[in-house]
Amino acid sequence: MENCIFCKIVRKEIPSHIVYEDDNFLAFLDINPQSAGHCQVIPKKHYRWVWDLPAQTGVPGNIGEYFTVVQKVAQAQQKAFNTDFILSKIIGDEVEHAHIWVFPNNKIKDNSKDFEKNAKKIKENL
Ligand SMILES: [Zn+2]
Repeated sequence: MENCIFCKIVRKEIPSHIVYEDDNFLAFLDINPQSAGHCQVIPKKHYRWVWDLPAQTGVPGNIGEYFTVVQKVAQAQQKAFNTDFILSKIIGDEVEHAHIWVFPNNKIKDNSKDFEKNAKKIKENL
């Protein structure tokens, strides 16, 4: 979609701190984080809702693969921020492109908003 902000991030027309990328999915740091390392995990293809992704296993970019990426990001955050308490939210009203919030609880010790450092910490633990 031409004017979708997340599609622009996928096309790298808008810079972001990418922590994970494969053929079908992208995870990047949220610019208004709930806590350090708050990620948005999105399908590269434009879907309005998370629930619109294909369900069939074997179809590239299906919802099972999506949640596997979300799990990878959450587990990397667990290690990066030394907590097992990772929250996630599926709401979808802020940007009209399917996205899942994944973020550590805000009681983590190092809750800095240093995007470079937080992206690096997550990437090192993926
Ligand atoms: Zn989009």
